[in-house]
Amino acid sequence: MAAIHGVSETTIGVLGGGQLGRMLCQAGSKMALKIVTLDPMENSPASSLSYQHVVGNFNDGQSVCEFAKRCGVLTVEIEHVDAITLEKLEQQGIVCQPKASTIRIIQDKYSQKVHFSQHDIPLPDFVEIDNLASVERAGESFGYPLMIKSKRLAYDGRGNAVAQRKDDLPSVVNSLGGFEHGLYVEKWTPFVKELSVIVARSRGGSTLCYPVVETVHKDNICHVVEAPADIPDKAKKLAISIAQKAVGSLEGAGVFAVELFLTQDGKVLLNEVAPRPHNSGHHTIESCYTSQYEQHLRAILGLPLGDPSLKTPAAIMYNILGEADGEEGFKLANELIGRALNIPGATVHWYDKPEMRKQRKMGHVTIVGPSKSVVKSRLSSMLQKDATVEK
Ligand code: ATP
Ligand code: MG
Ligand code: MG
Repeated sequence: MAAIHGVSETTIGVLGGGQLGRMLCQAGSKMALKIVTLDPMENSPASSLSYQHVVGNFNDGQSVCEFAKRCGVLTVEIEHVDAITLEKLEQQGIVCQPKASTIRIIQDKYSQKVHFSQHDIPLPDFVEIDNLASVERAGESFGYPLMIKSKRLAYDGRGNAVAQRKDDLPSVVNSLGGFEHGLYVEKWTPFVKELSVIVARSRGGSTLCYPVVETVHKDNICHVVEAPADIPDKAKKLAISIAQKAVGSLEGAGVFAVELFLTQDGKVLLNEVAPRPHNSGHHTIESCYTSQYEQHLRAILGLPLGDPSLKTPAAIMYNILGEADGEEGFKLANELIGRALNIPGATVHWYDKPEMRKQRKMGHVTIVGPSKSVVKSRLSSMLQKDATVEK
């Protein structure tokens, strides 16, 4: 066999061409990896950076099969893909990392919860609901507020709705499209902090964890990520052991993000897992020796995993969310970027999405620095509309 010229000659196919796909392409370009992307949008964020961009639906069997012919390994940057087709492709010898079974379990948040409860992972209580009587019973047993979630196609909290009392149930169920869309209920968890652990697993099965981070959500959307988490060591160890156990119950290589709740009494419960790079790991591009994106590529290609530890004492990531639709939103984002460019240790990421919409993730800023308090104060200067920048 001819020797490999460079790092790897395997063509990597990524289902999805959003910002996560874009950052995978950025990481891959350092090693001259060939990354091809599949996304319905011609000008999706990854399209201008990938080796080849294929316009097609990652949820359509035929498009996925055609796409797979170009690839030596298939992976995802979104879990809402045609997992049944991926399972068929695996049977034909196509390599999917992580495994199609993992994507199938995770893409349905209810089946994900059933899977993790069968593996003794601590979770908020949950139950499937399919009519008004069953959701009322859930309300009686779990109490209020009651979290109602769509089983499928959920992201950025779209698919979640909270009922404050029994009388709200019919309208909240309606707001999620009704029972026929597939709903389940979770007990409300009054967490003190939300945490995330990114776990990388190689094709050989070895795992490495990134430092535990704190995630702060606003209106159900990730807003700020702080690294490392400012929590007792005991809570860190617990978070890491639950994250490792959760990922250990799933098959395949790659990075996985484990979203967790830390409660007042020091318990850690799993919220959900993403089988791919994640918003809570954007900071790793600037703050860790090997970013989650490079790590994902190394893992799926069967290369040795890199060092996930922090190379800077502290980092904070701020999502640039659309503040308004259209031109007004672009203007506000540009003002924020202008301030960010003057902040020491700040790196601006702009995803180049063609359309600006309110609450849409348009970019992010990561600020690294010598301590948590310094990066936090740099972030507050960045957010002050009329501020002079503190150095
Ligand atoms: P993502 O964009 O992370 O995929 P998602 O749409 O799948 O989000 P979840 O992660 O289920 O949504 O929930 C979004 C946020 O809502 C959580 O990060 C948390 O802040 C809050 N939340 C979710 N479940 C609960 C719960 N059982 N109790 C209290 N708050 C919750
Ligand atoms: Mg989710
Ligand atoms: Mg989530």
